[in-house]
Amino acid sequence: MVKESDNKPCLAIVVPCYNESPVLEQTTERLLAVLEGMSEAVSPGSRILYVDDGSHDATWDVIAQLHGRDRRIAGISLANNSGHQNALMAGLATAARFADLIVTIDADLQDDETVINDMVRLAQKGNDIVYGIRRSRASDTWFKRTTAQSFYRIMSCLGAKTVYNHADYRLMTLRAARTLLCYEERNLFLRGLIPLLGYRTAQVNYDRKERQAGESKYPLAKMLGFAFEGITSFSMSLVHMVLWLGILFLLIAMGISIWVATCLLLKKAITGWASLILSVWFCSGCILIGLGIVGEYVGKIYMEVKRRPRYNIKDERL
Ligand code: UDP
Ligand code: MG
Repeated sequence: MVKESDNKPCLAIVVPCYNESPVLEQTTERLLAVLEGMSEAVSPGSRILYVDDGSHDATWDVIAQLHGRDRRIAGISLANNSGHQNALMAGLATAARFADLIVTIDADLQDDETVINDMVRLAQKGNDIVYGIRRSRASDTWFKRTTAQSFYRIMSCLGAKTVYNHADYRLMTLRAARTLLCYEERNLFLRGLIPLLGYRTAQVNYDRKERQAGESKYPLAKMLGFAFEGITSFSMSLVHMVLWLGILFLLIAMGISIWVATCLLLKKAITGWASLILSVWFCSGCILIGLGIVGEYVGKIYMEVKRRPRYNIKDERL
């Protein structure tokens, strides 16, 4: 795969696929229509890059057939089911070999593919990252909508930066993609990592649609696991909470001792009560503080082993 020599940017549309054979024909048709509509803005070498994430159905056969039919369709096949986030990283790493602009979008096209045009326009105005933002979640079930919105709120309460109502539909320039590839952590949560890159960003809004065919690959257990991944990968707040809880318990123990002293002075003390209750609050407080301190150290080790870049250079005049 070679980089285009004309001055129009080469666009890659990265599509992770896990058992998506029922939707691929339709997805391809619609994404090719998008590429055709943008022939003035992007180079003819622009293409769709499917990432087969170790599917058990005919996904890879369909991709290979589509590639045989039209060279604007490319694909890579992962040996195992490595998960949506890893499939996206594999796609980004491959696309970074030939593309200048990389869009990632789900195979079911629940996200409106027609706004890719606006994304490219915004990238050409100097934005390195363009987020696709869901304007409404009317097509999602009540349960999915509520859990997703609670998740964004919890994340922001815990101090992790995420973009509200943005999933993994976004455009990145080659520079942003290369920087992202320097983040080598294994517990990937891309929508938390990308705001950390620090480049200029823009947004496009769209209405989320129904899934075209097949079913969601994110059942409840996987969704909760993903949310927990996001919280624990980006926030040390849970550990801080343990420490503060320990301090609160010690304060409560102090309050109880003042109460006990008053009772003793007023000769209203109940025998045996104070020693028992005080030891419970005092010991629990000490244990929680101990755990919190250990947690702080473990958390620091965790952040160190991620080996995230210390800084990203946005501009330079040398
Ligand atoms: N996906 C993947 N690997 C997985 C699970 C999902 O590549 O292990 C892909 C899937 O094919 C789709 C995208 O990730 O293109 C998002 O999945 P889905 O649409 O099922 O999630 P939902 O929209 O229901 O949250
Ligand atoms: Mg979907």
